[in-house]
Amino acid sequence: MDVGGTKIATGVLRGEELHDRHVQPTPETGWPAVLDAIASQIQLLQAQHPDAVAVGVGVPGPLTADRMGVKFAPNIYGFTDVPLVAGLRERLGQTVVLENDAKAAALAEAGLGAARGTSSSVYITVSTGIGSGIVIGGRIWRGHNGVAGEFGHVTVLPGGPVSGAGLDGALEAVASGTAIARDASYALNREVSTAEAFALAQTGNPQARRVVEQAMKHIGVAIADIQKLLDPEVFVIGGGVAAVGDYFFENVNKAAQEYGSAFAPVEIRRAQLAGDAGVIGAALSAHEG
Ligand code: BGC
Repeated sequence: MDVGGTKIATGVLRGEELHDRHVQPTPETGWPAVLDAIASQIQLLQAQHPDAVAVGVGVPGPLTADRMGVKFAPNIYGFTDVPLVAGLRERLGQTVVLENDAKAAALAEAGLGAARGTSSSVYITVSTGIGSGIVIGGRIWRGHNGVAGEFGHVTVLPGGPVSGAGLDGALEAVASGTAIARDASYALNREVSTAEAFALAQTGNPQARRVVEQAMKHIGVAIADIQKLLDPEVFVIGGGVAAVGDYFFENVNKAAQEYGSAFAPVEIRRAQLAGDAGVIGAALSAHEG
């Protein structure tokens, strides 16, 4: 299961195939309602697949060090200090394995997608928020406190807009889908969605171009910084904003090469598992335990 700010996606992984995909809206009335929605959807799948051996849940925020709960989800209102594993155990009578959404997708792309066969990769999701997962030798690198890979909260513009984690100038606050829609709406003086901002930019609208190209440049420059710190074999980018395609990848790649390639070539690949990466990765995490 992949719990997002707007939707909850579920499926059953058998071997390398995802079955019975299901998507439902994320309740907006707080985490007890989200827990109920998660639990009833899992129960439904368990009834259909009684031989399923493990349950994994991906969530859009940093986990507690023991992986029993979510510290906070910057882009889901009121999702702070949620004891998710205990809440689900109570409702399901079975334990689940929790994983950060980007770490789950990183595991999926490394095992079954664009980074298959590599010895190290960094997966980056650019959507409502920005997150990443670092995979070394087939395993997620969690860091000492479990928060390694919180790429959306690296500071790229001190004094700039504030992120859902309360940090000014965080990458997520200047280059996520949410930030692009906010800045494009301001620049064009009307409500503009992220998709529309990209569409306008690609048809040459100067204000929209400035906003989206600035965001893509920030992402590329920050990728070059990861290259200098970790030097992974490949980067994989997924998420709703990256789904824009060529225009996104060309611009991000240009900045990443400009700021990174003096040291080593930066290889950026497109995610292959698209919307399934989070669900597949949560299932893989459950297997890993
Ligand atoms: C969260 C990350 C998450 C990312 C994408 C960020 O705001 O801090 O944990 O992976 O959004 O959902």
